[in-house]
Amino acid sequence: MSLPNFPSPWMTEEHRTLQDSVARFFNERWVPQTAAWREAGIMPRATWQEAGAQGLLCLSTPEAYGGAGGDFGHEAVVILEAARANLSGFGGGLHSAIVAPYLIQCGTEEQRQRFLPRMVTGELASAIAMTEPGTGSDLQAVRTVAQRDGDHYVISGAKTFITNGQNANLIVVVCKTDREAAAKGISLFLVETDQAPGFRRGRKLDKVGLKAQDTSELFFDEVRVPAANLLGGVEGRGFFQLMEQLPQERLIIALQGVAAMERALDETLKYVKDRKAFGRAVWDFQNTRFKLAEVQATVLATRAFVDACMVAHLLGELDAARAALAKSWVSEQQCKVMDECLQLFGGYGYMMEYPIAELYVDARVQRIYGGTNEIMKELASRFM
Ligand SMILES: Cc1cc2nc3c(=O)[nH]c(=O)nc-3n(C[C@H](O)[C@H](O)[C@H](O)COP(=O)(O)OP(=O)(O)OC[C@H]3O[C@@H](n4cnc5c(N)ncnc54)[C@H](O)[C@@H]3O)c2cc1C
Repeated sequence: MSLPNFPSPWMTEEHRTLQDSVARFFNERWVPQTAAWREAGIMPRATWQEAGAQGLLCLSTPEAYGGAGGDFGHEAVVILEAARANLSGFGGGLHSAIVAPYLIQCGTEEQRQRFLPRMVTGELASAIAMTEPGTGSDLQAVRTVAQRDGDHYVISGAKTFITNGQNANLIVVVCKTDREAAAKGISLFLVETDQAPGFRRGRKLDKVGLKAQDTSELFFDEVRVPAANLLGGVEGRGFFQLMEQLPQERLIIALQGVAAMERALDETLKYVKDRKAFGRAVWDFQNTRFKLAEVQATVLATRAFVDACMVAHLLGELDAARAALAKSWVSEQQCKVMDECLQLFGGYGYMMEYPIAELYVDARVQRIYGGTNEIMKELASRFM
């Protein structure tokens, strides 16, 4: 980092030690393979078990279910380092810090015991399927239905843009259990795809960025799921379960944004100090120094905002409005920073072999997923 790499106020000695070892693992083991993964459009399924063996999954899952018994700070460290290493194909953050918490906080004891230990090892790779071809922002309008039939539910519908869609074998599926009701008609189901005739994966989607991420379509054609797989065991709670968990998902997006910006600034500083034009380093033009000073200020302000959200969240005090603003504001800063940095690379910035090009294309979706920035501002403004 261009300024001394100051510790975040929420980080303990243990978080910092974890940060060093995670960064080393990513840089030595995974970064050399990223070109192949981008080419394939997916990280091999075995990387999930490798992540499990390295202790990179479910760090905040209680030890009683095989987890590391850490806090959200431990998850944040892995998320930050994955973003800094530009490992945009790794869906471990979603698995550990989005899906596992649904089980921990909303699941029944039987569900926790049945699924969490296998999520910790990577035997189960997970996804969450809310968005459908016909609806994304308007979550209450989902059309995938789960109809009770004896001691099973029968799920029919389609989902799209699902992160980890090809590798996942445990999918939290947002369904309507009562088509007449709005929010109260929604329930979440845990679908183990290895035991789900009628489940089909569609295309691995061809995206602008996140090239190594297996984002996919999913289809459910009368998939029979045991009634015991209704999250929390009570119908109609799904929307409220989602609303409870979404602030953490939004904070994760903000964390990814900060780390990606810090990486972009590092890459750009290295480049402009080396690259020559008109007989001097590009850094020697005042425009370059001014632009990068502005970028540095943006990065520092963003980091301070996200650190404050982290402190609040670790105390259980991060409200939905602040999380929504962090997600939208940070992702907007991220896109601006990537654009300014890329410009300073000239034509090389447009070549995918330079990390800045990948950082630039990967940034764009941060304003869209996890709830679009327009929806974030709608949500935040309700509290103003
Ligand atoms: C790479 C990627 C990964 C994703 N991963 C997942 C995943 O793992 N699981 C999952 O469920 N989903 C996932 N998504 C889906 C994502 O969350 C949705 O794309 C997003 O919520 C927007 O929904 P939509 O695409 O249907 O857009 P729409 O809802 O159709 O929105 C279109 C436009 O209208 C605007 N708009 C809509 N409503 C309003 C309003 N009330 N006021 C103002 N503007 C409005 C939106 O902001 C947007 O600009 C992913 C998407 C991408 C691209």
